[in-house]
Amino acid sequence: MDLIFVIIIGIFAISLLVFLLLRKIEKKIKDKAHIPSGNIFRVDLNKPSKALVSDRYKLAGKPDYLLNVDGKIIPVEFKTSPNNKIKDGHVLQLASYCLLVEECYKQKVEYGILDYNGVKYNIPFTNELKNELLKTLYEIRNVTEIPNRNHENSGKCWNCAYNYGCPSNLISKKTR
Ligand code: SF4
Repeated sequence: MDLIFVIIIGIFAISLLVFLLLRKIEKKIKDKAHIPSGNIFRVDLNKPSKALVSDRYKLAGKPDYLLNVDGKIIPVEFKTSPNNKIKDGHVLQLASYCLLVEECYKQKVEYGILDYNGVKYNIPFTNELKNELLKTLYEIRNVTEIPNRNHENSGKCWNCAYNYGCPSNLISKKTR
């Protein structure tokens, strides 16, 4: 009986330790990246995570973070640019993550966050932006010329908003 009691206490203590450790790691990541408040429940910076995939839109991607802010999922993407200015391509990439979250988690995404070295921009995922994304995807899928890839980095292709439609991408279908 005593042994069972000790085992139960031991399991409880280990669970508590793991929980506190995870909380500490999450806080460290947030502090380092100046992430807005909300629970991080998916991280793609330190370890590989599964891609979000939409068969309907033939789209796949891995946002840097997904935040849970009051039950709403917000994709966060870290970028760099001169003077921390927003780039159109980054907005489209973020929009593709908003769409993927809507598809995979079945909930409306109000906005995503672009983070340029701590300078954050909330990008509303409006119908206009969604339409622009779909139009762009349609256009690149109908390009007859095969684009020249200038790198061998599959991670770039994973994070590219055009990966599903790009015949030069380095992502094997097996890994999706
Ligand atoms: S998916 Fe295509 S366009 Fe995107 S980074 Fe890879 S090769 Fe370049």
